[in-house]
Amino acid sequence: MTFLFEPEATVGIPIVGSDALFPVRRVYCVGRNYAAHAREMGFSDREPPFFFCKPAGAIVVVPTDTTVDVPFPSRTDNLQHEIELVVAIGSAGRDIATESAADHVFGYGVGLDMTRRDLQFAMRDKGRPWEIGKAFDRSAPIAPLCPVAAFGHPAGQAIWVQVDGVDRQRSDVSQLIWSVPEVIANLSTYFALEPGDLIYTGTPEGVGKVERGQTMRGGIDGLGTLSVRMV
Ligand code: MN
Repeated sequence: MTFLFEPEATVGIPIVGSDALFPVRRVYCVGRNYAAHAREMGFSDREPPFFFCKPAGAIVVVPTDTTVDVPFPSRTDNLQHEIELVVAIGSAGRDIATESAADHVFGYGVGLDMTRRDLQFAMRDKGRPWEIGKAFDRSAPIAPLCPVAAFGHPAGQAIWVQVDGVDRQRSDVSQLIWSVPEVIANLSTYFALEPGDLIYTGTPEGVGKVERGQTMRGGIDGLGTLSVRMV
């Protein structure tokens, strides 16, 4: 049997120090995982983690030292940047214990959870799904991944993003309300995790609007940077 038409190709993310690509399976995202960001969104700072998803096709690979042009999305007057630590899962598991969760991590990356905030809030306020605000085309730019062997695990590295050279978000990854092992453990009670899964772990405070023509440059110290221009 053949496919009726050519299926969409698997998205592959470059890996620092390797010629292999990381094949993307699912993209999970954590909401409100930095206290100061939860407060700026109008919530208290300690609630159980919650999750939403983006399609793998939302990934935009941003090679090192390259600015990638991304078309400004439709139907929004309030496109916002969320700079995030991304976990790349390397081995399968369900009901993973927090103590062994790090063993399931292949590596880490820096990504942007681009958000049509006006649509997200309109849906949120009506108790409706967030997809039109979060899961749109090209809403998940990401830099090449660093294997654990090269980067280690997050330990207080700075996370930041600038828009046209001006600081917008600046924090450090130790400020996560739910740590990477806790996120993996909790997420794996809802979904069986598989190699190729990505987890965007949430954004610190300072989220803000991006306009056409502006360039976002963000990074996590020791892990990488990425640069995206909205066009
Ligand atoms: Mn986010």
